[in-house]
Amino acid sequence: MPKKSLNDADYAGKRTLVRVDVNVPLEDATITDDTRIRAALPTITTLLDGGAIVTLCSHLGRPKGKVVPEESLALVRERLNQLLDADVIMAPDCIGDEVAALREDLRPGQVLMLENTRFHPGERANDPEFARALAGDAELYVNDAFGSMHRAHASTVGVTDYIDECVAGLLVREELDKLTPCREASGDGFVVILGGAKVDDKIDAIRELLPRAEKLIIGGAMAWAFFKARGMGIGESLCTCDSLQAAHEILDGMGDHLDRMMLPVDVHIVQVEPDTGEMRVAPADAIDKGWDALDIGPDTRVLFAQAVRDAEIVFWNGPMGYFEKPPFDEGTRDLARALAETDAYTVVGGGDSAAAITQMGFDDDMSHVSTGGGASIEFVQGDDLPGVDALDDN
Ligand code: ADP
Ligand code: MG
Repeated sequence: MPKKSLNDADYAGKRTLVRVDVNVPLEDATITDDTRIRAALPTITTLLDGGAIVTLCSHLGRPKGKVVPEESLALVRERLNQLLDADVIMAPDCIGDEVAALREDLRPGQVLMLENTRFHPGERANDPEFARALAGDAELYVNDAFGSMHRAHASTVGVTDYIDECVAGLLVREELDKLTPCREASGDGFVVILGGAKVDDKIDAIRELLPRAEKLIIGGAMAWAFFKARGMGIGESLCTCDSLQAAHEILDGMGDHLDRMMLPVDVHIVQVEPDTGEMRVAPADAIDKGWDALDIGPDTRVLFAQAVRDAEIVFWNGPMGYFEKPPFDEGTRDLARALAETDAYTVVGGGDSAAAITQMGFDDDMSHVSTGGGASIEFVQGDDLPGVDALDDN
């Protein structure tokens, strides 16, 4: 790796600021999935075992620069306290005199969890004063927040101007290593699967990956934007104006490359107006008014599974349907099974996609399940990640 990582740093006795991404899903004040917390443990324990003095920072949710008590990191602190063989102390804020004093008093073997960085507008604005305060007295900065590496915020980029030594954590290193084959892949054997809800978020990925991939499979609500852009009816199916616009741009601009794009040939629909709840399978071009397409159909499932069967490298981001609500999980499940059965190098990224395949029990069958959504997609499409760029060169 061209950037320094934890293995290259001398951290014994050093005051260390660690940026983790513990942006976990919360429901009724409980953590519903602690994957991201557990993914941060190797770096934290390595530092603690090596005698470093560890302060952690992270964002949680989207509090928009204000204190939102429901988005406090206190629950994360509690979970870390259970998982770590160390005393984890909660700070009342992430900057300020009281926090500075807590950081100064911190001893080896203790961990200080700073409060949500997004409680301050300076985080997203990458404000230098906020970044300086967050850096505090740290002598070493470890960025292990892979899921946030594509954002140039104060805690991922700005702080590096105020800390002498800045290195990648073990999770970031592993993610970059595991995602690099997808970033470098092109031509025969490279299959990309995109799905989920928002085409506009993933339009750059389509633009970059369509010329590179042998096949680009599109499922999920993303597919409906392409149907609509081609003049097909989509009934009441999910499709935003931005997604439609993005789909038009792809169809108008990608010329011969469009031959590589695979769209669903049939769909699983439900009647919502009137709300009879009646379900059926329909050809892709027969989504009537009043019906909502919530999953790919059985013929499409076979077609997509065949497309990945002979692949060498598969990168998947975005579920094939409304998988949270059976039976609309079938498309995602069949594709996950097909990936699990191939000998291909298989990488899954995206919060909902990772949750889906974990819930379905296929996570151990994948070569890698990324903790990043936007970060993994941007890295694979060939972009440089600002959080990585800001670290010291090796
Ligand atoms: P990821 O988090 O993996 O990047 P996205 O956030 O882009 O994926 O999209 C995931 C969401 O898209 C899921 O909540 C899923 O239910 C929804 N979704 C996928 N297909 C459909 C569909 N046909 N209709 C409604 N929602 C869908
Ligand atoms: Mg998502």
